Amino acid sequence: MNQTLAIIKPDAMESGKAGKILAHLEAAGFTIQALRLVSLSEAQAAEFYSVHKGKPFYDQLVAFMTSAPVIPVILEAENAVLKLREAIGATDPREAKEGTVRKLYAESKERNAIHASDSDANANTEIAFFFSNYERLGVD
Ligand code: ATP
Ligand code: MG
Repeated sequence: MNQTLAIIKPDAMESGKAGKILAHLEAAGFTIQALRLVSLSEAQAAEFYSVHKGKPFYDQLVAFMTSAPVIPVILEAENAVLKLREAIGATDPREAKEGTVRKLYAESKERNAIHASDSDANANTEIAFFFSNYERLGVD
């Protein structure tokens, strides 16, 4: 078993799809290990997506990610990173396969309902971005 990070994005929060998306992921075989509701600051969103700094969509992406609260969630499964990327589908919902989260719930290539880590290394970094060890391990 290993872990990955998903973020339910502002478009899905505003359209009231967070519960459906979490249910979809549970039905796909993930277990929820930790979950928060977060309003990202501009600086936090810029840091989270800093790999895209300089790209034409970057400023708008940061504005989008700060436009409503989001739900970061640690998901666990066998091959969690790859399994979640497959479950969410392509970045652009028009290219996403039938039955994927983005096909079902995304509005557009930017407003695409959900983020998922793209490697084990990034999953670790992104989990640490949102969750302390205390929250992650559920220990006291
Ligand atoms: P994410 O990192 O959010 O899981 P992804 O890995 O499928 O998505 P990336 O290439 O990492 O896609 O892009 C990060 C996010 O930036 C996308 O999810 C989308 O919201 C936005 N984005 C990417 N490319 C474009 C584009 N050409 N136009 C508008 N928004 C874009
Ligand atoms: Mg990405």
